[in-house]
Amino acid sequence: MNEKRFSKTDCKRLEKGLCRSRRPVWPQLTAKDRKRAFLYADRYKDFIGKAKTERESVNIIVNMAQEKGFVPVEQAGPGSSRILWNFRGKAVALAVTGKAPVSNGVRIIASHIDAPRLDLKQNPIYEDLEMAFLKTHYYGGIKKFHWVARPLAIHGLALKGDGKVIHVELGENPDDPVLIINDLLPHLSRKVQGEKKISEAIPAEKLNVLIGGLPLLGPEDLKDGVKLRILRILNERYGLVEEDLISAEFEIVPAGDPRDVGLDGAFIGAYGQDDRSCAYASLCSILELEEPQITSVALFLDKEEIGSDGNTGAKSSFFEAVLYDLMRNGGLQIEADSLVRMLIASKAISADVTAGMDPDYKEVHEEHNDALIGHGVCLTKYTGSGGKYSANDAHAEYVNWLRRVWNEEKVVWQAGELGKVDEGGGGTVAKYLAQRGLDIVDVGPPLLNMHSPFEIAHKTDLLMTYKAFAAFYKAGD
Ligand code: MN
Ligand code: MN
Repeated sequence: MNEKRFSKTDCKRLEKGLCRSRRPVWPQLTAKDRKRAFLYADRYKDFIGKAKTERESVNIIVNMAQEKGFVPVEQAGPGSSRILWNFRGKAVALAVTGKAPVSNGVRIIASHIDAPRLDLKQNPIYEDLEMAFLKTHYYGGIKKFHWVARPLAIHGLALKGDGKVIHVELGENPDDPVLIINDLLPHLSRKVQGEKKISEAIPAEKLNVLIGGLPLLGPEDLKDGVKLRILRILNERYGLVEEDLISAEFEIVPAGDPRDVGLDGAFIGAYGQDDRSCAYASLCSILELEEPQITSVALFLDKEEIGSDGNTGAKSSFFEAVLYDLMRNGGLQIEADSLVRMLIASKAISADVTAGMDPDYKEVHEEHNDALIGHGVCLTKYTGSGGKYSANDAHAEYVNWLRRVWNEEKVVWQAGELGKVDEGGGGTVAKYLAQRGLDIVDVGPPLLNMHSPFEIAHKTDLLMTYKAFAAFYKAGD
């Protein structure tokens, strides 16, 4: 069979015209954007170092939004163009109204501001062998061995008997003591840990936080003197009694600030980048948004890490309340089907991180389809597991629209899956928002060490996530 032989130049031309290559972001950036990546990273580190719980995230988001002219919905008048909703102090929505009526649909970026951690149990404090401890119950998908033998902090709030709210943050200031969960020395762990599966080596009920070791000076037969001293300190410092701990929300999180990682400072290491890296990118995008064509909403959701249940999660009707407020604000006549029709006309991004390929664990990744670190923001058409179970599975038309928007705005992006098929899997808020009828797809930066106390993100991926979100809000139909 006679077949044409192509010259070297021809092949180069064909390759350029036909192939899509994934290239690192850094060499593609202008000098200005390379500088911008590092500036953005510095502001982001400041955010993520302070936003270690969902409540702290809400406070920072609300403050930043109010500085940029967002008005709480309770104070917003008809026609207000920048509105904020603070839902139980644990979820937020920000909206900038567009020129088109909201009945034409809205643009939504939904991220989550909760992260895997250890919560205190209702009756946390006890004493054993003259040391006081706090019982914990883990929240979200953790690897328990990450949480032992490392400095920990407490962030949260308690309500006293009279309803007064007490905020507690302990372990972040260099003068603060930190807390710790003890691990077994290697000399004695051969059987009790070494012969077990890694997931069983550290049982959840051994994730007990050391909080004290000096018994209160009292009569010789005083029992649990260490616990009593700790309760006394809690009372002196915060006015709390043991019963206050039942209603309290105290979260045990890794102590310490975000850090640059690598001699070249390519990466940021920090707790909670899943998913506060996306929350920050969507926050920056909506704060700078002025008079968009389409009304734009940033949702900052809670409870994603435990399945989006609960009244501050993606399944909550909080989301619908926001949309009803927007319809009323736009002077819309609300019919029985107004909300559904508006939702069906809406476009959304489920802003969440994905797994970056780890060179040491290539066996769980599929090299052609998993996200590469430093290669830009990643679009994930479907999450879930097995045969796309529990996936949103975005449509061709919508993905096509989004890639045209990004290509026009020179966003460096890649498309990927989370690991090999049947290797594992995971979900996001995408499917819960999709249930309401809108078009949605997952977008976010790839991370290394996801769900660990020190997650790693690449600075150029963070910049591209921000650029991708900003382009989404600004794009026409
Ligand atoms: Mn996430
Ligand atoms: Mn997660």
